[in-house]
Order: sequence, then C-alpha cells, then structure tokens
Amino acid sequence: MTSQLASFKIPVIDNEPMRNYAAGSEERKGLQAAVDKMLKSAPFEVPCVINGKEVKTGDIQSQLMPHDHANPLCTYHAASSEVVNQAIEGALEARQAWEEIPWADKAAIFLKAADLIAGKYRYELMAATMLGQGKNAWQAEIDAAAELCDFLRFSVKYVEELYQQQPPRNSQGVWNRVEFRPLEGFVLAVTPFNFTAIGGNLVGAPAIVGNVLVWKPSPMATYSNYLVHKIFLEAGMPPSVIQFVPGNPPEVVKQCIDHKAFAGLHFTGSTQIFRKLWKDISNNLDIYRGYPRIVGETGGKNFHLYHHSAEIKSGVHQAIRAAFEYSGQKCSALSRCYVPSSLWNNGFKDQLVDETNKITIGPCTEWNHFTGPVIGRPAFEKITSIIEQAKKAGGEVIAGGEWDDSKGYFIKPTVIVTKDPKSVSMTQEIFGPVLTVYVYEDSEFDNMPKLIEDTTEYALTGSIFAQERAALVSAAHKLRNAAGNFYINDKCTGAVVGQQPFGGARASGTNDKSGSIAIFSRFVSMRSIKENFINPQDHYYPSNFL
Ligand code: NAD
Repeated sequence: MTSQLASFKIPVIDNEPMRNYAAGSEERKGLQAAVDKMLKSAPFEVPCVINGKEVKTGDIQSQLMPHDHANPLCTYHAASSEVVNQAIEGALEARQAWEEIPWADKAAIFLKAADLIAGKYRYELMAATMLGQGKNAWQAEIDAAAELCDFLRFSVKYVEELYQQQPPRNSQGVWNRVEFRPLEGFVLAVTPFNFTAIGGNLVGAPAIVGNVLVWKPSPMATYSNYLVHKIFLEAGMPPSVIQFVPGNPPEVVKQCIDHKAFAGLHFTGSTQIFRKLWKDISNNLDIYRGYPRIVGETGGKNFHLYHHSAEIKSGVHQAIRAAFEYSGQKCSALSRCYVPSSLWNNGFKDQLVDETNKITIGPCTEWNHFTGPVIGRPAFEKITSIIEQAKKAGGEVIAGGEWDDSKGYFIKPTVIVTKDPKSVSMTQEIFGPVLTVYVYEDSEFDNMPKLIEDTTEYALTGSIFAQERAALVSAAHKLRNAAGNFYINDKCTGAVVGQQPFGGARASGTNDKSGSIAIFSRFVSMRSIKENFINPQDHYYPSNFL
C-alpha cells in the first residue's frame, strides 16, 4: 500500500489551444513533414499489444488509405481467440494494482499523455488520422490534437470533482463517506473509425477511475489508435491496464462479452450494432457476477430548422460546415434541413447551391480542399445508393450527385430537395456528404418540431435559426427531446469537451455525455461507509419507556 501525504490540487484545466495551419506557418511545415514521413514509411506493421508486449498472430489485415485505396497505411495482426483470452486475463490480473495506485498518480499519467499529444506526437497522430481516416488538417487538429487532449485533461478535472462528492450530512459521532470503486471485472471499449479522440476517450474514461480494459479499435482507425495506445504507455499507464486488441470485430467482441468477468461496455458506433451487443449482453446475464454497465453513443439524423426571421447568409454557411465537413462523417453532421419558402426563394437556395458547388474535394495531402474522401468501400456504396434511391423517389439533386472511386472514395457534397419529408434521405442515417432540404410554407413553422420528431428514431443534435425570440423559445421547447445537443443560431456540429457535453438519447445512445462529469459515474460502483465514534450503551430508544 502507498500513502498520499497531502490533498493535492490538480493544475488548472483548460481547452487545448488550436493551431490554424495557415500557409507559411511553422505548424503547417511541421504537419506536412509528418505526413510526408508517414507516406514514405507506410505501410506500418501493427501488432496486438498485450500486457505491454507486441503480439504478432500472423493473421494479417489492412487499413487502407481512403484517398488512395490501393495503398494501406498499416497492416495489423488480428487477434486470435487465445490472444483475446490473454488480454482479458492480463487485464484482470492488473486490476487490483491499478485500483490501488493513488488518484494523483493516475491523474499524472493522463496529464502527461495529454502533453505528449499536444507536443511530441501532435503531428504524427494528426498525420495518422489524415492518412488513415481521411481528415484534412483542420479536422485532424480538432480531433486528434485538441479534442483528445481535452478529453484526457478534463477527465482529471471531472474525476477530481466526482471524488469530492461526499454525503452532505454527518450526525453527531458519525462520519459518512463514499468511495467510487472501479467495476468488478473488465470493461470492453469498442471504438468507431471517425474520431481518434473518441477511441482515446472510450478507454481513458473508464481507466482513469481505476478500471482495466480490452480495447477493440475500429479496423479503419487501427494505426492512429495504436499510436494513442503507445502514448498511454509512454505516459506511464501500467502495461496491462489497457489491452490493444485489433481483430475481427464480431469475434473479439463476442469473446469478451461471453466472459464471466465482463463488467461494462463503452461503445461508440452505429445504432444497429449497439442494439445487437446490448441483446447479446442481456442474454448472458446469468453468467456475470453483476449487471454490466452499458454505455453507447450511436447514430443520428441531425437537423437545422430555419425560421423566416433567420439570417440567410450565415445560415447557409453554417449548413455547409455542418453537413459537409469531414464529408458528413461526424455523428453530429447535419443531414436534414427545414427551410421556409420565403427564405428558400429569396437567396437561401441560390447561395446553398453556389457555395456547395464551389467546394473542392481531394486527398488530405493537398491543403486546399474543404473536405475529402469517405472512409471505405461499404460507406461509398451505401451513400451513393441512398442518393440514387432518393432520386428515384422524386428527390431533386440541386448540387453534387457525382462520385468517383477510381483512386479514393470521393463523393461530391450533394444537396437534395424533397417534397416528401419522410423520404429515404430524410429518415436514414447516411453518414456521408448528403444534405436533404424540405421546404415548408412559412405558416407551417409551428408544425415543424413535431414533423422533425416524428421523422426519425434518433435524437442526437439539432439547431434552430431565428432572429425572433418567440420562435426560438417555441422551437427550443417543442424540440426538448429531439436532440441531446441543441444549438441556437449555431451549427449542429462541433461540440467542445468541457463546454458542450456530448450525446443523444432515443436511438442515438444512452446519453451519458462524454466530456462531462456524468460519464464517470457509469464506470464506478459507489460504496457508502459510515463510521461510528460513540458506542451505544443500551439498545432501547426513549420511545420504548413509559
Ligand atoms: P460501426 O457501428 O460500424 O463500428 C463501431 C465499432 O463496432 C467498431 O469498432 C467496429 O469494428 C465494431 N463492430 C462492427 N460490427 C460489429 C459486430 N457485428 N459486432 C461487434 N462489433 C462490431 O460504426 P462506425 O462506422 O465505426 O462509426 C460510425 C457510426 O458511429 C455512425 O452511426 C455514427 O453516428 C456513430 N457515432 C456516434 C457518435 C456519438 O457520439 N453519438 C460518435 C461517433 C460516431
């Protein structure tokens, strides 16, 4: 046992300052050099990392570069069932020692990891996110540098606050306390391709409160996630606390969920996979020691609702950023717009079409593009097929609607106008650069919130744009449950850790809000402790006497 001989104060925590990569800047030179170096050395070989040691299974899979799909960024060794087993058992063995490491030392590991990402590894991690996940420089900065640092640092702040939450009352001769125990068993983190930061946070949040984990990364984000894991180790994370286990997703996940020590799932990805995993876990309830914690942030069908008093120009720019940045592959990406006919016919449509047509798409290695490829072949086929279906169903493509997969998976930012507010591209999550607009009569504004609510099962993000306060008030009230992240006169993407806790309800997830104190309570099991200082001298109460 170690002792902590003071109640330490954590450093002041703030958001990581963003770099802008303007032409000629030092940061652009640094990032360019990292991208060039990575391109020269690719493909990298990624092992499983079990108990801090590289394990090469020989079952080789590839992570392709979405802008140049003939070339892999890395190959990786897919975990065999024996390796998954070693990962689970190693993590379980490390559990007690990790729990016993004092809080200040756990915090120090996270603060150091953030500083390594902010400095030494910033450009390398961004380059891996650009080449492997198809982000341009700005999107990579938002994700792999800023958001990941923020997740790690704010985790320290929030856990500090969580640990300070103690019972407010002590009766005479009694001291009441609570402690926040890690879960009994291991946590499985199943992470998505689209944010390197989410990968780091899905393992980081449970780990910082003392849990041990198996990390199953997305095959399409293997290399950046592997670097994040390396950074955790360099920062001093004990080697078996987070086991890096790339592999066949259904197989690795099933083996973990079927283990009797499975204690929690930290998932981000599609609604359909999350629902399946929840059912699989429920079917296993009899084998577990406790009730596993299930935390999942999933799909969305995010909206902008414009009122006739909204400003057109900024409304259009906000829509373009929200719909087309990172080719619409943010869970918060704008997918459906509700625009009143007065605005639509007085400039909204023309500006939206003009500005969308100006956008160039291309590889992340070229600086001038606003956006790049979609992640892979299945995504490319799904997105283009939805555009075709929307056209067949009467949707009018007024911008984009073209694609080319000869070298990379490129789809032009596409705007569809529909007369059917429940048509396919208004209802399904597309996860690509496709925005569908429904033009409504101005007099119908009051009915739009109900239409928005009834159109999809999701409730992730949404925005209202208006200058008239009464319109804002009414829409914000009626759309209270339609989005876990709601914006007023701002785009529906771009949540910042420590500023807008993120997550949606309904089919969009358990809404445990990453980037807030709430998430940590899902990965601890509280113990109440009452200590008595005064020994009773009798077992009777005054009311027992005549
Ligand atoms: P996905 O569901 O395809 O994959 C997510 C994870 O699940 C990956 O690690 C994947 O390998 C694994 N997986 C896939 N099939 C599996 C199976 N049969 N069994 C077990 N595991 C399996 O999602 P994705 O394409 O990586 O990410 C896009 C999705 O994630 C979108 O739906 C998006 O809305 C959602 N997302 C949501 C948030 C949020 O905060 N709400 C954030 C990012 C992404």
